[in-house]
Amino acid sequence: IAPPAARALARLHEAGFEAWLVGGCVRDMLLGCAPKDYDLATSARPEETKAVFQGETVLETGIRHGTVTVLLEGMPLEITTYRVDGAYSDARHPDGVTFADNLRADAARRDFTINAMAYAPGRGLRDYFGGQADLRAGCLRAVGDPGTRFQEDALRILRGLRFAAVLDFSLEEETDRAARRYAPLLTKVSAERCAAELGKLLCGPAAGRILRAYPAVLGVVIPELLPMVGFAHRNAHHCYDVWTHTAVAVDHVPPRLPLRLAMLLHDMGKPDTFSLGEDGQGHFYGHPRRSVELAEGILTRLRFPRRTREQVLCLVRYHDAVIEESPQRVRRWLNKLGPERFFDLLEIQRGDASAQAPAYCTRLDHLRRLEKIAGEVLAEAPCLTVRELAVGGRELLALGYQGPAIGMALRRLLDCVLEGTLPNEKTALLQYLEQIDAKKSEGK
Ligand code: ATP
Ligand code: MG
Repeated sequence: IAPPAARALARLHEAGFEAWLVGGCVRDMLLGCAPKDYDLATSARPEETKAVFQGETVLETGIRHGTVTVLLEGMPLEITTYRVDGAYSDARHPDGVTFADNLRADAARRDFTINAMAYAPGRGLRDYFGGQADLRAGCLRAVGDPGTRFQEDALRILRGLRFAAVLDFSLEEETDRAARRYAPLLTKVSAERCAAELGKLLCGPAAGRILRAYPAVLGVVIPELLPMVGFAHRNAHHCYDVWTHTAVAVDHVPPRLPLRLAMLLHDMGKPDTFSLGEDGQGHFYGHPRRSVELAEGILTRLRFPRRTREQVLCLVRYHDAVIEESPQRVRRWLNKLGPERFFDLLEIQRGDASAQAPAYCTRLDHLRRLEKIAGEVLAEAPCLTVRELAVGGRELLALGYQGPAIGMALRRLLDCVLEGTLPNEKTALLQYLEQIDAKKSEGK
């Protein structure tokens, strides 16, 4: 346990209040991994907590819900007064919160048993709902009646799938049944809250298994996914339907949100673009473009940041592109996408290929060779953009170029440098321009 968290507990205890670490940090400590952040629950009312931490930075982050954030030695600690949530009438928010006088009541409002434990050094673990046993069994069990809890706040359903994907756990039978039954209520939950859970779900090590097991639940949040479920490729490249292929591919890319989102969405356009060729094989002409259209709608609706959206759409757009194995072509792609995104694209192509029929895994060798070529190209400290050219606008002005002609000339030079026909050296570049100028005036 981090020293600032321990000191915060001690200060509340010294002032005569109960105080416990609660929720995710207790779960993570029992799992043997370092908590991302520490949440405390206390019998102190918010004003009392503020008084205990007088002299420290105290932010009233959620004062209406009894939460203040104390910055202790640079570590933000969320300290929440014991509370019970009032009735829920909209499947989203409690109508009001009431402070409670004991830890048990506070634990009972939490979502899953593994998230409902409390711990304090010297006082031990408080586990009212069998969280420790469920943690050992890899089991997600709602606290109380799952149906009631999911009707109160449908986001818990998605949180359940998120924890299952992140921890590689399974939903307990009744929790599972209620999750499927009440999933339609997720339409009442805000796009941002859903997107946050969906993002964490996708980045979990068991994301693929959860995608395969709960398409209908995800389909409430993203109905556009549903046509992929069970849609057969009917060609020799694939041994799975589109959705299963997608789920398998997700597990094959590194757990970074843009990559996982791109993998989730990369084949969405397939059902719309399917045609059966004369060869008896299923074809999907233009499916990446259709996938981009659908993906853009989804990413906008779920309010993913613009940068994430752009990254994802670029990867979806080019996921099927055939990249020739030559330094010239690789330099072109590096110019077009930038090195970082180029390597992301290779990851996407790798994930896609890994989830196809084994006979097509020769593509993996191709991708390995591309990666090697790109590594070699980059090791030469190449010029990949106009800004990296050894000449700039100033030199061209001196040569008598003006206005748009400057940009055009620079792009022409970059073209030759990418192609490898000119070295990126000032004299060579200027000489080349003089030559073409001379040719032009001869022609006149
Ligand atoms: P993470 O490691 O992602 O932060 P976490 O368990 O800490 O996981 P938070 O969203 O930070 O998750 O929530 C902190 C705690 O608050 C949870 O462990 C849980 O006890 C409780 N909680 C959060 N959201 C809900 C909810 N929608 N319904 C009931 N309890 C919730
Ligand atoms: Mg947390």
